[in-house]
Amino acid sequence: MSLVVENVSKEYPTRGGTLSVLRGASLTLAPGEALAVMGPSGSGKSTLLHVLGTLDRPTGGAVTLDGTDPFALPEPALAAFRNSRIGFVFQDHHLLPQCSVLENVLVPTLVNRTTRPAETEAYARQLLDRVGLGGRLDHRPAELSGGERQRVAVARALVLKPALLLADEPTGNLDRTNARSVGELLLQLHQQERNVLVVVTHSADLANLFPRRLEMNDGTLQPA
Ligand code: ADP
Ligand code: ADP
Repeated sequence: MSLVVENVSKEYPTRGGTLSVLRGASLTLAPGEALAVMGPSGSGKSTLLHVLGTLDRPTGGAVTLDGTDPFALPEPALAAFRNSRIGFVFQDHHLLPQCSVLENVLVPTLVNRTTRPAETEAYARQLLDRVGLGGRLDHRPAELSGGERQRVAVARALVLKPALLLADEPTGNLDRTNARSVGELLLQLHQQERNVLVVVTHSADLANLFPRRLEMNDGTLQPA
């Protein structure tokens, strides 16, 4: 997927008026690119990622994913587009504690009727192999380490083969060693799957693994 962000602004209403978080952010990503967006806490990185992920409408400017404006779609079509084309990894793994590792990875397929259950389960098993958890399919999240839980979250984000993979501080809860290996895993899977990967993080360790880096600066994106 190609991705174009042109002069995007995002304001939040506050009690005293409005808070301008994005102030003309622009960005172009070609198919197959990987990008890290850096910046301190509160600089608007999550807001940008929510706009890219079509979770949040921009106040101004344009977002184009694969040549079309997703926000022009009616809400059900937008939800279907998001589910089938975009994968998300967050700082917290958001795994369902009562479900096994394999069941957690299959969660996105439950709301997608275009996939065939037997094929998606085979693919989920393959992904879990590739993230190093092929031997842990029946474990509950509580039986895994923090790094292992985040690897499950990465497999879940990829199970519908999204063209765009978005990660918000994916290593924020991990120690340095696990953070590095989850970062490397994201990049490796991105290369294998040929998706577009955007990671937002305040961690220079994570950002430095990426071939391209931008910095969120006063609501705009600057070369880092
Ligand atoms: P970062 O991810 O870089 O920490 P965020 O995008 O989360 O930054 O937040 C940027 C600013 O926008 C912060 O001041 C935050 O408090 C504010 N903010 C984020 N979401 C909302 C919201 N839904 N309503 C009001 N303010 C928000
Ligand atoms: P970390 O060093 O990352 O904090 P832990 O000490 O939590 O990791 O876990 C070390 C290993 O033991 C991991 O492989 C984890 O999956 C496994 N483990 C931890 N708790 C359990 C459990 N209750 N049942 C089965 N395996 C567990």
